[in-house]
Amino acid sequence: MIATTGKTNLLGLTQPEMEKFFDSIGEKRFRAGQVMKWIHHFGVDDFDAMTNVSKALRDKLKAIAEVRGPEVVSEDISSDGTRKWVVRVESGSCVETVYIPQGKRGTLCVSSQAGCALDCSFCSTGKQGFNSNLTVAEVIGQVWIANKSFGSVPATIDRAITNVVMMGMGEPLLNFDNVIAAMHLMMDDLGYGISKRRVTLSTSGVVPMIDELAKHIDVSLALSLHAPNDELRSQLVPINKKYPLKMLLESCRNYMSSLGEKRVLTVEYTLLKGVNDHVDHAVQMIELLKDTPCKINLIPFNPFPHSGYERPSNNAIRRFQELLQQAGYNVTVRTTRGEDIDAACGQLVGQVNDRTRRSSRLIAARELNAESDLAQNAATQP
Ligand code: SAH
Ligand code: SF4
Repeated sequence: MIATTGKTNLLGLTQPEMEKFFDSIGEKRFRAGQVMKWIHHFGVDDFDAMTNVSKALRDKLKAIAEVRGPEVVSEDISSDGTRKWVVRVESGSCVETVYIPQGKRGTLCVSSQAGCALDCSFCSTGKQGFNSNLTVAEVIGQVWIANKSFGSVPATIDRAITNVVMMGMGEPLLNFDNVIAAMHLMMDDLGYGISKRRVTLSTSGVVPMIDELAKHIDVSLALSLHAPNDELRSQLVPINKKYPLKMLLESCRNYMSSLGEKRVLTVEYTLLKGVNDHVDHAVQMIELLKDTPCKINLIPFNPFPHSGYERPSNNAIRRFQELLQQAGYNVTVRTTRGEDIDAACGQLVGQVNDRTRRSSRLIAARELNAESDLAQNAATQP
């Protein structure tokens, strides 16, 4: 465990919370904006560097507050420009953050939990079991760390991070309040100023929380579908037994129509050889999604040891894509990025990218998380 200091961590405070904080210590509310800019725009964690704040207030802040992100355990850069950070959170577990540059776009893939309780059959994070929810500071701290590594710049200048996807480790809707607060900070001009269209929450289908989402925030939504019928989906994504497809798609449509402007759902579909990549599956999917405005993102399975699954051939992937396209869907295939640093979707287990340990990722995760429950869960894996 990382020792807590008892100080208020300003990194995880939204603008209204920061104003309340300054109120509570008898200071003017406009200080909130000043301090937030130092933290999020300039990546500053030292109050003495906040030069437009009086010396007296800086001393006061030093006594009662801090700016503390998760601890960076490693930073790797892939040959294709993808970057991966392993960070240690307060529970003692490690989680991963991945940056994927693509043309003018730079997408940061952020984790919401250490491990995941939902146990999707093809996901290495799920194989770890659940360890802990990340705090607001730990979720936004991943953006803070990545932003700093590119050299923080004021919000008016083009930044390296143009998009954020909550597609790292964990199910974001099961850490609802903290993820919502962190996404507000991503979009706030005093935070990272990213447009609501460019902040995406991906869920495996926690229906009551999708219904709740519209009351709290306006961000893009991605649904991890992975199967076109309940029987198969319940095998791959066990939460489907609780919230089956009809209910789930209705909930997604309601959320999308609540946004009040034309935006479409992203449907993610991980292609598993011989499991969900048959022509029949594409035909069922065409029927299933006919009333749900969406774009489809096919993700060829990213292998990990003992998964029991394989990636389909390129021909099979293309055939699946073409069938959906012929039915009028907008379909992209996610190119696998950062494989040489184990940064691809579903490969995130919170390990340090030590090349000698690359082939035994679960063992590495176990070593890293030796003090946590995660250790026990990983130990039970084949
Ligand atoms: N828990 C959320 C977000 C994190 S997972 C969710 O499930 O949506 C991000 C995406 O990666 C999901 O669509 C997930 O199904 C997919 N994924 C997980 N393991 C994968 C693997 N081994 N290969 C390819 N995609 C995978
Ligand atoms: Fe959890 Fe998403 Fe992995 Fe399923 S795919 S186990 S919901 S992280």
